[in-house]
Amino acid sequence: MIISLKQVKYVGEKTYHSFVKNSIWSTYDLVLRRPKNYENYVLTSINEATNDSVITIIGTVASSVSSYKKKVSISKFFIHIENKKIEVTAFNQPYLEKALTIGQEILIKGKYNIYTKKIIANKISLNPLIPNLKPIYNYEGIHDTQVYKIMKEIFLKEQVTIYENLPKPLLKKHHLLERKKAYEYLHLPPNLEVLKQAIRRLKYEEAYQQQKAWLKTIKERPLKQALAYDLTYVKEKINKIPYTLTKDQQRVVNEIFLDFKKGYTTERLIQGDVGSGKTVVAFLAAIGAISAGKKAVLMAPTEILAQQHYQNFISLYPEIKTALLTSKVKNKNQVLSDLENDEPMMVIGTHALASEKVVIDDLGLIIIDEQHKFGVKIKETLKLKNHLADIIYLTATPIPRTLAIAYFGDLEVSVIKEKPANRKAVETKIVDEKTIFKTLISQQEKNEQTYIVVPAIDSETKSYNIKQVDQALKKAGIKHVYLLHGKQKIEEQETMMKNFSADTKGILLATSMIEVGIDIKNATTIFILGANHFGLSQLHQLRGRVGRGDKESFCYLVSEKEDDERLMILSKETDGFILSQFDLKTRGPGEFLGERQSGYLKYNYLDLTQDLNILIQARKDVENYI
Ligand code: ADP
Ligand code: MG
Repeated sequence: MIISLKQVKYVGEKTYHSFVKNSIWSTYDLVLRRPKNYENYVLTSINEATNDSVITIIGTVASSVSSYKKKVSISKFFIHIENKKIEVTAFNQPYLEKALTIGQEILIKGKYNIYTKKIIANKISLNPLIPNLKPIYNYEGIHDTQVYKIMKEIFLKEQVTIYENLPKPLLKKHHLLERKKAYEYLHLPPNLEVLKQAIRRLKYEEAYQQQKAWLKTIKERPLKQALAYDLTYVKEKINKIPYTLTKDQQRVVNEIFLDFKKGYTTERLIQGDVGSGKTVVAFLAAIGAISAGKKAVLMAPTEILAQQHYQNFISLYPEIKTALLTSKVKNKNQVLSDLENDEPMMVIGTHALASEKVVIDDLGLIIIDEQHKFGVKIKETLKLKNHLADIIYLTATPIPRTLAIAYFGDLEVSVIKEKPANRKAVETKIVDEKTIFKTLISQQEKNEQTYIVVPAIDSETKSYNIKQVDQALKKAGIKHVYLLHGKQKIEEQETMMKNFSADTKGILLATSMIEVGIDIKNATTIFILGANHFGLSQLHQLRGRVGRGDKESFCYLVSEKEDDERLMILSKETDGFILSQFDLKTRGPGEFLGERQSGYLKYNYLDLTQDLNILIQARKDVENYI
C-alpha cells in the first residue's frame, strides 16, 4: 500500500511541496532514500578526550554568555561537566546570549584542548536529546531534524509497507536483518553497530537482485556448435612466432580453446597489463576459429591500432586470407562481399565493423581489443547480429574483479600477469620541463625514439598543447618531430605514424591518442606534459608505450599541479592492477567501462572497492536458489 506523505503527522503543506520538489511523494519514496551521511553525536567522556580531538559532550551552562564582534561575532561562556569547568567559544551565534540560561543542559560538539580546558564549538544544540547518529539528508527546503521527526512518526505508526524481497533461508544463513528493519535502522540508527547491520543487509540485497537479473541473461545464452579447430594447423602457426610464449600466454590460449569446445557461446575477458602480449594471444585465438573453417573478427578502438594489428598479422601470416575494414579503406566493396562468403578468414577493423551494412557469414569468434574504449552499444550490436560467436574482450586497464562480476555477471576472466622475459620496469620520474630538450637530444644521439604526450591540441586553458610545444621544439632547433592528433585526417595520421616509426631519431608529439596499443620497440622515453590532466590508469597506459623491448626506458611526468598524489603513486607503482584499484576509489567505475558507460553502474549501497565478497556470495546464492 502506498501512503502519501500528506497523511503523515508532521508534514504540512509547505514541507510536502518541498518533498515533491525532491521527487518524494510517498512514505515509501522517503524511506527508500539513503541518508547522505551521518553526524556522529556519540558522547565522549571528557576525561578520556585526547588533545585537539573533536568531542561531543553534554554540559550545564555555568556562566552568562559574553559576545563581541570582530570580523565575525564571537561568544564565550563556561559550562560544567564532570567536575570540570570548560570555556566554550562559538562563532557567528550571537543568539546564544539570549538563548542560554545558567543551569541549562546543552550539547556541544567541537575541538577540545585538554591543557587550556577550552573547546571551540562547531555545533551547539539546546536540545541535548539529539540522536547519537544523526542522518544527514540535505533535502532542499527541509531541515534534517524535521525529516528525523517525520521518519520516527512513519515507523512508529507503521505508515510504510516494506515487503521482504530476499528468500527467508538466506536471511537466516547470513544473519541479515529483515528488509523493513533494515530501513528503519538506516534512518533511526540506535548505534553504529546496528547501522552497519542495516547497511550490510541492503548491500546484500542490491548484489542479490543484480545477480538474479544476470542469471536470466545467462540462461538465455545461445547454443552453438563446438568449434572443430585443427590443432596441427594451430601449432604450425605458433611455430612461426619469433619468440616463445610466456606461461601465462600459453595458459590463456588454452582457456580460449576450451571455450571453443563448449556447446554454448562464451564470453571471456582477458586482462593483461600493458605490454604483457595480449595481441599474439588474440591472433592465436583467431587462428583457432579460422582452422575450424570460421571467420574471426578483431576490432580495435582506433584506425591506427587496427592498421598496426593488420600489418602485424599479414606479415606473420601472409598465407591466411585477411581483410582490413575501417571507415577509410579503399577496397570496401570487395571486403564487404568477401565477408558475406562462407570462406574462413581473418577480419581486422574498427567500429566500422559494427555498422548495419556489414554482414559477416559464419562468424566463429569476435575479439574486441581495449574493450574499455568502446561503449555498451557497440558490444550489443555485435552480439545481436552474431548470435553464435564466442566473444573475447582484451583490456589493459585491468578491471577489478568486483567490476567484472558486477558489470559482466557471468563473464570468465583470464589474467596475464607475467611479462615477456627481459623486460625492464620503466623508470618513472616527476621532472621539471627544463629537462626536456636535453633528454630529447641525448635520445637522438642514441638513435632511440621519444613520445611527448600533451592533454590538448590547441587550447587556451591547458597550458601544454600540441601547437605550443611544437613551436617550442622548433625554436630550440629540434628536428625529426612528428605530430599526431585527432584533428588530422586519418591518412595524415597514418603517414605520421609510419614516418615516426621508421625514424630512429623520431619524436612523436601526440595527444592521448597513442594511449592504446601503439607498439614501437625502439621508443624508449615518454614525456607526459600536464600529467595532472590524465587519469591514473590512463597514465599507466601511456607509460606502457615504452619499455616494450629490452632497452632501458623512462617515463617523465611534468605536472602543473604540485604534490599530485597520483603522480607519486605512479612513479612508485608499476602494477596496473594496483593502480586500477586506486582509480576505482578516486574516480569511480567510469574509468574502466569507458566514459559512455559510466552511468551504467550506479549502486546505492555496494562499494565496488571493497564489497567483492558480498558480490561473490550473492552470486553463489542466486545460483543455488533459482
Ligand atoms: P599488449 O598486451 O599491451 O597489447 P602487445 O601484444 O602489443 O601488448 O605486446 C607487446 C610487445 O611484446 C609486442 O612487441 C610483442 O611482439 C611482444 N611480445 C609479446 N609476447 C612476447 C613474448 N612471449 N616474448 C617476447 N616478446 C613478446
Ligand atoms: Mg594491445
